[in-house]
Amino acid sequence: MAPGPRTSDTDLELLIDRLAERAIDLLTQPDRDRPLLDFADPGPLTDRFADTVPLTIPSFQEPAAPDALVEAIDTVITGSVCTNHPRFVNQNFAGADPVAVVGDWLGAALNTTGATYEMAPVFTLMERALLQRLAELAGLGRPGSDHPAGIFCPGGSIAAIHGLQLARHRRWPASIRTGETDDRPVILVSSAGHYSARKAAAVMGLGTEAVIEVATDRAGAMRPVALAAAVSRAIAEGRSPFVVVATAGTTVTAAFDPLEAVADICRRHDLWLHVDGCYGASALFSPRQRHRLAGVERADSLVWDLHKMMGMTQQCTALLVAEPDRLDACFADGADYLFQPDKANADMDAGDRTFVCGRRIDALKLWLTWKFRGDDGMAARVDHGVAMADHARSVIADRAELSTVVAGDFTNVCFTWLPPELRGADVAGDGLPAHDRDRLHRLAPAVKARMQAEGTAMIGYQPVDGLNVFRLIFMSPGVTAEDVDELIDLVVDYSEASWPTIG
Ligand SMILES: *Cc1c(COP(=O)(O)O)cnc(C)c1O
Repeated sequence: MAPGPRTSDTDLELLIDRLAERAIDLLTQPDRDRPLLDFADPGPLTDRFADTVPLTIPSFQEPAAPDALVEAIDTVITGSVCTNHPRFVNQNFAGADPVAVVGDWLGAALNTTGATYEMAPVFTLMERALLQRLAELAGLGRPGSDHPAGIFCPGGSIAAIHGLQLARHRRWPASIRTGETDDRPVILVSSAGHYSARKAAAVMGLGTEAVIEVATDRAGAMRPVALAAAVSRAIAEGRSPFVVVATAGTTVTAAFDPLEAVADICRRHDLWLHVDGCYGASALFSPRQRHRLAGVERADSLVWDLHKMMGMTQQCTALLVAEPDRLDACFADGADYLFQPDKANADMDAGDRTFVCGRRIDALKLWLTWKFRGDDGMAARVDHGVAMADHARSVIADRAELSTVVAGDFTNVCFTWLPPELRGADVAGDGLPAHDRDRLHRLAPAVKARMQAEGTAMIGYQPVDGLNVFRLIFMSPGVTAEDVDELIDLVVDYSEASWPTIG
């Protein structure tokens, strides 16, 4: 049973028991008073392990004692970011659903690949059922269709490459064989869109210059007039636009591109409409929020990260395709050692509808969570995130020392603190003198560093129109209105303390 030459069953049992205890502890709501991270720089962090099990792997690694390993694991836990903590609002994910976590463990324990029905009979059926229902929520599903509506991918960026490759394949089918497209292909994405479009263009051999950024409005949503103009300009220059990446929920401000208007432009020019719903597609779970994606049923492809707003563990990404047969046409290679056409249920194999080979069983945790929570539970998670963001917006509006830069109306709020002499200034416009703007720009990283060092909270910051502003993102069901108040108080306290130190 034991894989190594020395591990006894008792050692193994002890290790499994202790680690399982700790993992289960992490699933329950963390203590609000405990720091969400015991932060250290790389040197001191490495040193913390010196007394138990060092981080480095020496040229000959002796088996470590299980007790020492368990102690080292405690150092791993305290030195890691507790993303379930109610004051963790740093990222487009937070508050993993405990049901998803145990689903992930079970999937790992069953360790298989989603490539073939032979290796994953139940998970193949589960994945199909989930894809079908997700596609129906987006208006892409064909009721009664026995062809899977897409494929689960290892993350949104990988799924984006799939979507863009499908688009290229539709326009230039021979490019799969020749690698050539004849023309100068162009991808259009808003200036607030995710960088994965540029990275995909680079790995696809199109080059990042193939990506044209389209202007957005102040909220961060693509302006259709600018899109139409960019398409016409590219065509006039002899280039070949072939796909528009519309973002449903931008990473920074959670803006939704107007999909109906974008789809109209795509139809006029025969462009593939790829919707990057990595962040915001989960709004489709909520009857109150799904209007934000009106028009998504006209997409050719849609990427949906369930590991963002829905609390699935990293990663859980669905790629949905309006004409799913295109996945086979575009990606199949027919490896005869794996996808033998003459074996039982060969038509169920998912592995040749993607360019990856082995695939984790990401469907299991979503299936388990959705069944456990029900549709209402899934919707409640989204609605709670928006409610907490609404609360944050109202608190910020009421406090003279705070000013929203992009308030948004979904889960994200971008704002800044202002010293007394600048209160009332039009921060979003040109209302700040250059020197003050520069000082404010340097405030956010200073506040962030203090917060990180003390482990009291974790909030993001990034430039919006060249000015660093704080970003709050709410999706964790564990965050209460009081947590929001405390978070904002912390930002104010740290800002007041840091401001005089910034010259
Ligand atoms: C997070 C994100 C991505 C990338 O998804 P990964 O799963 O992290 O690869 C793409 N687009 C948007 C809008 C995102 O927020």
